[in-house]
Amino acid sequence: LFVDCPLAEGLDVPLAKEQAHYLFGVMRLDVGTVISLFNGKDGEWDAEVVQAGKKSGSLRCVVQTKPLQMPPDLWFYFAPIKKDRTDFIVEKAAEMGAAKIIPVQTEFTNSARINQERLQAHALEAAEQCGGTFVPEVMELQKLPKVLDHWDASRQLMFCDETLVGAKEALGNVPRGPWAILIGPEGGFSESERERLKRQPYAHSVSLGPRILRADTAAVAAVTVWQQHLGD
Ligand code: SAM
Repeated sequence: LFVDCPLAEGLDVPLAKEQAHYLFGVMRLDVGTVISLFNGKDGEWDAEVVQAGKKSGSLRCVVQTKPLQMPPDLWFYFAPIKKDRTDFIVEKAAEMGAAKIIPVQTEFTNSARINQERLQAHALEAAEQCGGTFVPEVMELQKLPKVLDHWDASRQLMFCDETLVGAKEALGNVPRGPWAILIGPEGGFSESERERLKRQPYAHSVSLGPRILRADTAAVAAVTVWQQHLGD
């Protein structure tokens, strides 16, 4: 269970109304039950229910069961598509261990807005679901040219596009360290975006195979390919 407060031995953790309702109203947990807590900073803790009301409750931290496990330094950039597919992309990027998730507006991106709060909630749920101790931050929508204007060249970029260069060739001799992945929108990248990206020494255009994948499929495939070649 995610809680937004510090976790340390003996500390009491107050629960939000919805959490108390779920744990004590729906799941019918009693005082003395031990559950797992994380806050994205202090690892995972076993905590014992010390107060169980219908609308409130609290837990006491007993013992740390996992230290904070930081994901690899991988930032995940993607062009938002339809709402449910964007949710899917964020969920999967968080599940697969992206450290930061950044929606970008490209020339052919149809959605000019995102609901950052909703996407952050999806990232949190995904981290919770897969037993992660870290929750990736979902950033506001940013315009691709601005992102590239401010790029820190020590971060390499795996730019997924139709190209003949496979991952082994593109990533084989590039160092580990800070990395990013970029996935385009349903309409792909424009020629000027491609040209600009190709000029950047830090950008490596990578094919995910001969088929044109939907952006949400490409997102999962790209992280898998990156992990295979450069992940820990
Ligand atoms: N017709 C579009 C185009 O011209 O690129 C197809 C876009 S595809 C539906 C959406 C995004 O997924 C692409 O911009 C790319 O980032 C990624 N993608 C899909 N299939 C890919 C592949 N085989 N190799 C590399 N990237 C791919």
